[in-house]
Amino acid sequence: MVSKGRHPKSAMSTALHALDRQRFALAEVHVGHRWGSVTCLVCGAHLAVWSTPRDADQHAKQIRRFAAKHRHHEEER
Ligand SMILES: [Zn+2]
Repeated sequence: MVSKGRHPKSAMSTALHALDRQRFALAEVHVGHRWGSVTCLVCGAHLAVWSTPRDADQHAKQIRRFAAKHRHHEEER
């Protein structure tokens, strides 16, 4: 049983916890290899989060890149 709210891969867990909850919604829905998704609350873009990525560090980087791309205009918020 995977504990809720925490990704089993530590690199992923760190990346997910670094997300700004004011701007990103983290949905934990375990379906197959899917762990959940990150949604940008500004534009509604989704990023699928996998529970067993081939390369957890790479997938963690993808999450950080998504977060960086979706800063939008912070001063408008
Ligand atoms: Zn966005």
